[in-house]
Amino acid sequence: MKKCWLELADDLSLEDLPADATPGFDGDSDAAREATDRLRDELIDLQDRFHAQGRDALLIVFQAMDTGGKDGTIRRVFSGVNPAGIRMARFGRPSANELAHDYLWRVHPHAPARGQIVIFNRSHYEDVLVVRTNKLFPEPVWRRRYEHIRGFERMLADEGTTILKFYLHIDRDEQRKRLQARLDEPDKNWKFDAHDLEQRKLWDDYMAAYADAIRETSRPFAPWYIVPANRKWYRDYAVMSIIVDAMRRLDPRYPEPDYDPKKIRFK
Ligand code: ADP
Repeated sequence: MKKCWLELADDLSLEDLPADATPGFDGDSDAAREATDRLRDELIDLQDRFHAQGRDALLIVFQAMDTGGKDGTIRRVFSGVNPAGIRMARFGRPSANELAHDYLWRVHPHAPARGQIVIFNRSHYEDVLVVRTNKLFPEPVWRRRYEHIRGFERMLADEGTTILKFYLHIDRDEQRKRLQARLDEPDKNWKFDAHDLEQRKLWDDYMAAYADAIRETSRPFAPWYIVPANRKWYRDYAVMSIIVDAMRRLDPRYPEPDYDPKKIRFK
């Protein structure tokens, strides 16, 4: 697989990474869309085997700034996949009951079963992102969570779950355009939330929080992929190709029948 994500070197911040990059396609959106369509056919086939085999579980985490494109990516990448083997879990503001528990309490029940793909639309990472930028808990509380999260994901991986984590990287100017579009285009008005404007003021804090979260919790058993996401067609291609590559490596196969199909005849 050609490299379609960005590396966050130690001396860089997320804002140094080009959100409008299109590595491998040099701006050619038609070619990328065709490649995405071909990969989608392959994903549908791989997922059918994966589900039938019921051996592995796959957890796919999506995080992004507001307007970063989580919903659109999920819609486009997974359209046509058999709903029987796939589910999405959203993590919004915690309820009073959720807040009365530890922060992973609401997350663990959504972990995928064998044969299942579960998509996290936001995730336990909010507990080191929005919690940090909005000062919902003091620093010692969120800082020790990196270790919990590494341990939690390690446990899931040891028990048979493949984990892929995507940060959809848009830049500040792209967010401005997308927020404006929510006001200008009537069929996007429903997406506008004044709360997003408050969060936009915290852009620099979010970038620092994301960079720390990515560095602290990217491990071979649960890697983060920073996907350049200003161009939606590239973002979709990159996410699709990383998922398909991971599923190819799992090499799912239909289970062998424990009978001889040639010896059975219907009357
Ligand atoms: P989305 O923006 O993903 O489409 P919503 O509009 O429902 O979904 O927003 C979810 C909100 O919940 C976001 O502002 C997010 O930061 C917030 N949220 C998620 N998890 C937590 C958490 N653990 N603590 C506080 N806020 C959270």
